[in-house]
Amino acid sequence: MSTCLFCNIIAGAIPATTVHEDDQVVVIQDISPKAPHHLLLIPRKHIATCLDIAEEDRELIGHIHRVAAKLARERGVAESGFRLVSNTNADAGQTVFHIHFHFLAGREFQWPPG
Ligand code: AMP
Ligand code: ZN
Repeated sequence: MSTCLFCNIIAGAIPATTVHEDDQVVVIQDISPKAPHHLLLIPRKHIATCLDIAEEDRELIGHIHRVAAKLARERGVAESGFRLVSNTNADAGQTVFHIHFHFLAGREFQWPPG
């Protein structure tokens, strides 16, 4: 068994609520939601951090953003707005070292973030 939480969720070894999946990305509900909509867009490919994205991953990262836009439209938050966030390393608060994008929507967010 992999030691990576998200690899295990993608493999079905750890349960999660999946809201979208395709050949490149799995989208689950965050277990500790910080907004009315709080999803995690996770590539099936294990990439530890933003710093590990390779040239060959260009299309994958673009696809994740396209999926985020599709989810925003489906959930009726495209016009009101949403936030797509990826934390990298300690100062940003990354806790799971398999790259993922937080999709947050359904309330007004502050800027700059805390
Ligand atoms: P980050 O801190 O940016 O690495 O984000 C990790 C996210 O994963 C956090 O928002 C956690 O709430 C979420 N998380 C941790 N364990 C699980 C799980 N088993 N299922 C769904 N989300 C999880
Ligand atoms: Zn992984």
